[in-house]
Amino acid sequence: MDLVKKNIAPRFRLEGTLTEAVPYGSGHINDTVRLTCELENGKTRRYILQRMNDDIFKNPKGLMENIMNVTSFLRNKIIQNGGDPDRETLNVIRTVDGDNYLVDEDGDFWRMYIFIEDATCFDIVEKPEDFYNSALSFGNFQKLLADYPASTLHETIPNFHNTVSRFEDFRKAVEEDTYKRAAGVQKEIRFVMDREPETHVICDALAKHRIPLRVTHNDTKLNNIMIDNKTGKGLCVIDLDTVMPGSALYDYGDSIRFGASTGAEDEKDLDKISCDLKLFEIYTKGYVEGCGGSLTEEEIRMLPMGAKLMTLECGMRFLADYLQGDVYFKIHRPEHNLDRARTQFKLVADMESKWDEMMSIAEKYL
Ligand code: ATP
Ligand code: MG
Ligand code: MG
Repeated sequence: MDLVKKNIAPRFRLEGTLTEAVPYGSGHINDTVRLTCELENGKTRRYILQRMNDDIFKNPKGLMENIMNVTSFLRNKIIQNGGDPDRETLNVIRTVDGDNYLVDEDGDFWRMYIFIEDATCFDIVEKPEDFYNSALSFGNFQKLLADYPASTLHETIPNFHNTVSRFEDFRKAVEEDTYKRAAGVQKEIRFVMDREPETHVICDALAKHRIPLRVTHNDTKLNNIMIDNKTGKGLCVIDLDTVMPGSALYDYGDSIRFGASTGAEDEKDLDKISCDLKLFEIYTKGYVEGCGGSLTEEEIRMLPMGAKLMTLECGMRFLADYLQGDVYFKIHRPEHNLDRARTQFKLVADMESKWDEMMSIAEKYL
């Protein structure tokens, strides 16, 4: 693997002598290698080396600035709380020149972290408790960063969860109809159009300061949490590439979207798709508890809206991609993006039918 062959590791401030470099983990975005170094006293130190994906992230400098700033802030907080700052947050290892990443001769971007020992990432939610634990971890991440000046972070993917601009992109895709597919999906297009007014709700609340701008993670999957091997509890939130300013409703809502659905994102049988209220309740409980009082009342009241809008937004993106000839999301069959859009709209409709219950679950935490 050229990652290992390239011999990038010695250009970082490693302790000891490098003895092993192996491809590592199941990430889809960056290329990840685990390094082992031997120290003179016979002990070992391990590191994570990553080649950053500069196709997706167009501003690696800004992205690394975000990661440096957020992780140093977290580090201080963890020390104040008496925690272990080498395991409870990512820690960037600098290059020998003192930079926080390096660009090699081929223009590839590299960064290094301390390897978090005695912890594991799980790819699949196997039981409701896993979902609850991930809610606690992402909530706790929000709590630790509640007093971070979120507006100083770079928006590394501009308008990532700006539902208003996502709707405009959608409308444009419908108008252009490059692949002449719109006629066949009028029902789905109408579903989105009917909900246009709602696409403003979170953006307006942020703009009017009814809810605070916060640090958001934007990739709140189970395998972006390291679980402590001893305690079985969430230890550290990793994969901070998409850390950006935004709303807590984005992280929460996206987790409900994929975690509380009773079916796969591309399920063809829509009867299998609904929002499982038990899972909704479990995640809500974990997230609010993890946030430890840092969510405002308005944010708590808006949690169901966060879930609904993140689902609608995702559906809009799938349908827009279908209309544009499947250029963004990889497809494995014709109409794959349409199937995905339909599951999202089914979920939205199901949430609407369960709205009162979702609201009363959220309001328990006021
Ligand atoms: P994704 O597909 O989730 O976007 P990615 O390609 O961005 O993933 P990461 O999530 O950063 O990559 O890392 C990939 C895997 O490497 C993680 O799931 C985890 O198993 C492991 N890993 C990453 N950082 C560390 C670390 N500091 N210590 C131990 N393991 C780590
Ligand atoms: Mg990851
Ligand atoms: Mg990632």
